[in-house]
Amino acid sequence: MSKVYNTTSSRFFCTKCGREGIPVHRKKGQEREDGHLKKLYCMYCQEEVNHVEIKEYGNYTVDDFKQEYELGRFINGERIEKKDLIECSNIDCPFNVDGRCWNSNYSNDCGHRIQKEVDENG
Ligand SMILES: [Zn+2]
Repeated sequence: MSKVYNTTSSRFFCTKCGREGIPVHRKKGQEREDGHLKKLYCMYCQEEVNHVEIKEYGNYTVDDFKQEYELGRFINGERIEKKDLIECSNIDCPFNVDGRCWNSNYSNDCGHRIQKEVDENG
């Protein structure tokens, strides 16, 4: 029986400013799912903001966060589920990922966002 605690360290990135915060160590077995959001104090924003957790050996990487952050997927620190994102047919748009618009925070005014109020049978 070993008394060494198996810990794993996670990196945290602020969903507001995109910068890296202070890493957190977790005991093995207490890890959260990939890309888990956790409210932490951001020294740059100087307030508590949701941070994305990037585990040492997870499937969610810094590149995944950068993509989500740069495309504007976070609104007020929350992330919209992929299935709930607006569908987009403009496959040339850099914000279009697998047919969904990742620009949830509307930082990019592409003009392709159509509200589903139009009667498509007309
Ligand atoms: Zn921040």
